[in-house]
This record gives sequence, C-alpha cells and structure tokens, in this order.
Amino acid sequence: MKREKAAHNTMKVININLSYNSDFVTEVEEESGQQLNQCYQCGKCTAGCPYTDEYDISVSQIMRLTQAGQKDKVLKSKSLWLCATCESCTARCPNQIDVARIMDVLRHMARREGYSGIRTVRTFWDSFLNSVKSNGRVFEVGLLANYISHTGRFWTDIGLGPKVLPKGKIHFKPHGMQGKKEVTKIFARFKQESAK
Ligand code: SF4
Ligand code: SF4
Repeated sequence: MKREKAAHNTMKVININLSYNSDFVTEVEEESGQQLNQCYQCGKCTAGCPYTDEYDISVSQIMRLTQAGQKDKVLKSKSLWLCATCESCTARCPNQIDVARIMDVLRHMARREGYSGIRTVRTFWDSFLNSVKSNGRVFEVGLLANYISHTGRFWTDIGLGPKVLPKGKIHFKPHGMQGKKEVTKIFARFKQESAK
C-alpha cells in the first residue's frame, strides 16, 4: 500500500514539459563526471533503493528529471536528503552510471543554492562534520548535544540509552587519535577550494 502511494506520488511529479535548464545538466555532468544521457530508464536503481517507499521522487525519476533539465523540481526533492549513499543504485545500474555520485552532487548543489531540504537531516550533517573537524573523528555525545540543541529533539532515540550504556558504547570525552592535524587540514583545504 505504502509503495503504491509512493508510486502514485512520483507519477504526479513527472512533467518534462517544464522549461529545460541546460546549464543545470552541464553542471551536474561536470561535477559528477557522469553522462546523464546514458540512463535509459530501466528502473533497476529504484527497485534496489532501500528508501524508495520514503522518497517523494524515486531515484530513476530523479535521473529522468535531471536529464530533462528540471532543476527546481529536482533540487526541491526531499529524496536528496533521505538518500543514505548506500550505492545500491550505482551497483545495479546496467550502464555503469554512478547514480549515488549524482545524488551527492545534487544534494550539494541544493544546499549551495539555498534549497531548504530537510532541516533535521541538514543539522545532523553539520553536527557530524563539526564533530569530526574538532576531534579528528566523531565524538558521539558531543554530536548528540549539538544536534539536540539545534533541533530541540530531546526525546529522539532516548529509549536506546539504557541499551547502549551498559555496553560501554558511549564515551563522555572525545577519543584521542593520531592524525588529528591532518583532518583539520582537510577541512581547511575544502574551505579554501570552495571559496574559489
Ligand atoms: S545511494 Fe541513495 S538513491 Fe542510491 S540506492 Fe542508496 S539510498 Fe537509494
Ligand atoms: S539503473 Fe541506470 S539506466 Fe536504469 S534507470 Fe537507474 S540510472 Fe537509469
């Protein structure tokens, strides 16, 4: 039933008669290194995607809309923010298109160009990356505190606490690690490159 509803929703959003944005197509191809016209809409990527039921636009339809230069429709899609980068779509594509890479490029583009996306997902990303930047690797408790303070979701996953605490999986201090300076340098280099 859920899958039928998703299929119905996705059918509604396909409208390739909207204006074609060729700059968008070129930009996606350049940033991803993939050729969009190699997709012949077999649907294997969608069939293997674990999030198809949750997506507002399925991954094969994202591919079709991107081919058709429908920038707004694609960059507004919630699917970009739900994608887990599991790469099942890439592995299944008979034309060796790196579909997961395209999803990644679209997500970055959406963020860069101010499309709102799903706020909690974006906040989780920021909290995760800030934690890695400060500690060289993720510090789970710090990440959680940062995420909760920005989203107000105090009770999310609270039930997991009693299960993981006795297993020693939660540390209240950041882990020490070698190569922390190198990680900081990666973030600095990314900032530098992004400013160009
Ligand atoms: S990488 Fe994203 S789009 Fe591709 S199968 Fe995984 S979740 Fe779906
Ligand atoms: S599996 Fe490849 S060819 Fe088939 S729809 Fe997905 S991207 Fe297109």
